[in-house]
Amino acid sequence: MSERFIPLIDQRHASGAAIAPELQGAPMPALGRLRDALGRPLRDLRISVTDRCNFRCSYCMPKEVFDKNHLYLPQSSLLSFEEITRLARQFLAHGVRKIRLTGGEPLLRKNIEALVAQLAELRTVDGCAPDITLTTNGALLARKASALKDAGLQRVTVSLDGLDDAVFRSMNDVDFPVADVLRGIDAAQAAGLGPIKVNMVVKRGTNDHEILPMARHFRGSSIVLRFIEYMDVGATNGWRMDQVLPSADLLQRLRSELPLMALQASSPGETAQRWGYADAQGQFSPALGEIGVISSVTQAFCRDCNRARLSTDGKLYLCLFASQGHDLRSLLRAGADDDALASAIGHIWNARSDRYSELRSTQAPNDAGPRRVEMSHIGG
Ligand code: SAM
Ligand code: SF4
Ligand code: SF4
Repeated sequence: MSERFIPLIDQRHASGAAIAPELQGAPMPALGRLRDALGRPLRDLRISVTDRCNFRCSYCMPKEVFDKNHLYLPQSSLLSFEEITRLARQFLAHGVRKIRLTGGEPLLRKNIEALVAQLAELRTVDGCAPDITLTTNGALLARKASALKDAGLQRVTVSLDGLDDAVFRSMNDVDFPVADVLRGIDAAQAAGLGPIKVNMVVKRGTNDHEILPMARHFRGSSIVLRFIEYMDVGATNGWRMDQVLPSADLLQRLRSELPLMALQASSPGETAQRWGYADAQGQFSPALGEIGVISSVTQAFCRDCNRARLSTDGKLYLCLFASQGHDLRSLLRAGADDDALASAIGHIWNARSDRYSELRSTQAPNDAGPRRVEMSHIGG
């Protein structure tokens, strides 16, 4: 394989996507010091292992679009575990420290624990084990938690949009009960997959009345509840700004009952702003725990964004809102050696200037831009 390469652009989820600029250049060995065009390092790799899901959350895979006629990727298009592991090794060599498995619903991928075991063997440039975590809707977690832990998974994030059964069943749109997700969380805790995070997407008028019940439920446990502003990802969820509850309003609601104090970010580029529960003396009380707020819509955090996303079919996306991905699977299947893969990843990241959320506020209200990739294709 020559060191000159032309990553292909994924048009599967794009409409009228622009022709990609040819990316060519000298070999770029992985030295762990990669920076993009805005000086941002590459630290976090999110790997989508399936584009299928057993839920139909209206904000992600609405039933009307993801129905029985929807074309999912054929098995041959999926990266194999060996292909994922080969690519992950090159990403780690470029500076990635954290790997998150996602989807679709990652626990639907057959034998996912075998992939976890392969990834757990890899090392970062500093010779450390990568931080391996997984985001799940929790439906299969009770069954899988201990096998995942044994395979080397460190933590899980579980999505749960409310405690009211009727609200949750309607949001997942497959009538899935809250109690089964809570059972999954308990199993993950018992297996040692902590500290567990719980993601709640807040949609104004749909589940914002669940904010306080959720906070009360998880306060005082070691579980970190994170509130996520409903985002305009993909092109199918019919997003409207008036359905977004700004994090500032959410915090106000929480603080009306539960005193909170701002906490330091635990790592640069962290998506969630951390808040700790305060005790009667107004001091942060670790025993009461903390929450996170992810203000992707109202407070852009692109400046520190160090996340790359690998889709189920091996496309590298540089932003959650990207309309195009760089086709690493073609390189892999054309016989690229590890140096060529590292070089390709290096050049792609080097040219990255994505900062969609920062630019969102300057867009005309009805200008959606080119059709964006679906969240279920690249994960959160
Ligand atoms: N199926 C798994 C799950 O739900 O946890 C993993 C994939 S899911 C795409 C990853 C995360 O993205 C979940 O926490 C989900 O709630 C969040 N998400 C999906 N669509 C979203 C949207 N429109 N706005 C904000 N968060 C969203
Ligand atoms: Fe499935 Fe997760 Fe999307 Fe819900 S958010 S539809 S559980 S992929
Ligand atoms: Fe990163 Fe794109 Fe989100 Fe900005 S909009 S924080 S660049 S994923």
